[in-house]
Amino acid sequence: MTALRQDVARLYREVCARGLNVGSSGNVSARAGLGMIITPSGVRGDTVDPADLVRMDFAGGHEGPLAPSSEWAMHAAIYRADPAAMVVVHTHSDAATALGALGLGLPAFHYDIAQFGGDDVRLAPYALFGTRELADHAVAALDGRRACLLAHHGMICHGRDAGAALLAAVRLETMARQYLMALSAGAPRILGASEMAAVHERYKTYGQQPALKA
Ligand SMILES: [Zn+2]
Repeated sequence: MTALRQDVARLYREVCARGLNVGSSGNVSARAGLGMIITPSGVRGDTVDPADLVRMDFAGGHEGPLAPSSEWAMHAAIYRADPAAMVVVHTHSDAATALGALGLGLPAFHYDIAQFGGDDVRLAPYALFGTRELADHAVAALDGRRACLLAHHGMICHGRDAGAALLAAVRLETMARQYLMALSAGAPRILGASEMAAVHERYKTYGQQPALKA
């Protein structure tokens, strides 16, 4: 059993234990050589075994009795597009999904949006799950970023390792919840470009968010 399989299984258990997934709705993967190791279709976080994980190439080829997650193409497209992506987490978590259902991404309502690599977290347009179209939308929304929301679906994020990807998922869901709370009470002010430029500059020199750096 490779350490990477254990890492991916542990990450999936943790994503589910933290309430980011219910049942088998989400999926996680890690880059492995010229392909990836991904959670299989229909396996729950509380029962996943490292041996259940599917090793596959980015074109869909895989071995073993279990089928990979139906969202494997979205994971593969992200690894192909961004060499910094080492671990990918996809969830249907509550607040991220609610924002996507409203047609909203996450603007700079909080300076810490910068941790995802830009001045906002974009919303990828809706496409049918498991399609190349959805994978393309996600890659476009992730350009230069470590996270995006998926309209009428959920969210997807990546990190340099399992810990960073988990942290990104937890923080994204937390900030989505905070933004929804602000929206429910009024019209939150959004930080301007110069204010966000100062945050990015501070991150560079202040050593903040090391876990999320690609
Ligand atoms: Zn999904």
